[in-house]
Amino acid sequence: MYYLGIDLGGTNIKGAVVSEAGEILKEASRPTHNELGAEHVSDEIALLIHTLAEGFSPDLIGGVGLGCPGTVDPSSGIVRYANNLHWELFDLRSALKARTGFLVQLANDANAAALGEAAAGCAKDAESAVILTLGTGVGGGVVLNGKLLTGYTGAASELGHMVIVDGGEPCTCGRRGCLEAYASATGLIRMTREAMAGHPDSLLHAVTREQGAVDGQTAFLAREQGDPAAAAVIQQYIHYLSLGIANIINCFYPQVVALSGGVANQGERLLQPLRREVASQVYGNQYLEKHTEIICCTLGYRAGIIGAAMLAKQA
Ligand SMILES: [Zn+2]
Repeated sequence: MYYLGIDLGGTNIKGAVVSEAGEILKEASRPTHNELGAEHVSDEIALLIHTLAEGFSPDLIGGVGLGCPGTVDPSSGIVRYANNLHWELFDLRSALKARTGFLVQLANDANAAALGEAAAGCAKDAESAVILTLGTGVGGGVVLNGKLLTGYTGAASELGHMVIVDGGEPCTCGRRGCLEAYASATGLIRMTREAMAGHPDSLLHAVTREQGAVDGQTAFLAREQGDPAAAAVIQQYIHYLSLGIANIINCFYPQVVALSGGVANQGERLLQPLRREVASQVYGNQYLEKHTEIICCTLGYRAGIIGAAMLAKQA
């Protein structure tokens, strides 16, 4: 049996035909054209489903899954709120059923990506995994025994919105001090800018001129050249991230915590100091025989597509 996995983004809709083992057999994408509204986006998704299914016997297509940004109700198929699509209470499952005949399984996109990494990526064969995406925001997904933790309402694992600094920096969600406000690329860029303002002699300025703008790599690049202000930014960033990860481990004790997103491209430069900081905060760490592995994700954007297909397989 094959499954279709779709990742709905604000700019593009990406999809693939995926085997039961999580291998991609065929990929395609279409522009989202979100400015034309939810009904039009549903037309685009339906066209993508037709393109993907072409050439495969209908008897061999086991179902369709879709990862969507925002708050999604997996049982009803309603997208409750997706702020970057400007959607509110849109019945995406009914819209796609009417257009394609498929009963599409839905999940939040970060959750779908977590399921993809657990099924076919960095956490393949792990009994449990938590995936954290460090991008513009901080997304998260929790996979326990191969299944997504969705919670009572479907909105579980908003790990980026655990408060790590009471009364801290404002977060996009309206609260203050969320992990997202510190551990996202956006948070790292803010801390880098603050360091630049306080250290006019820092190499951060030269690196920024070379790059054209401050981004999530700026502080890492300046630190490599021996800049102390950049080293302090990275140390502070890793400390904040370690608070979130230690909290996650103390809640779930997963076999794997895996990081994705732009900042995670630093690989071992980020992971080595992070593992040390996390270890000192894990409950009972020195007495445990087994420890959570902290690693990087391996599937990139395909995690969301493969995970969406796995939603269909599990339905
Ligand atoms: Zn928040």
